Amino acid sequence: MQGRLRGEPLSVKVESSCALCGVPLALKLDSELRIGLLEGGPEPLLFHPFVDFATLGEPSIIDAF
Ligand SMILES: [Zn+2]
Repeated sequence: MQGRLRGEPLSVKVESSCALCGVPLALKLDSELRIGLLEGGPEPLLFHPFVDFATLGEPSIIDAF
């Protein structure tokens, strides 16, 4: 999201683990909202909020939640 707002390509790698069994999990998300599973499985459920920036009164989407 930050990359789309800035107009520059950004990506983030998230390393975590399953909360139930502890199996490692790694995924990559880029500024075009492409998601790739790097390690672990099955494919994790991910979501991103749909925010109407024209009506957003809070200083950031984090504050809106
Ligand atoms: Zn698990």
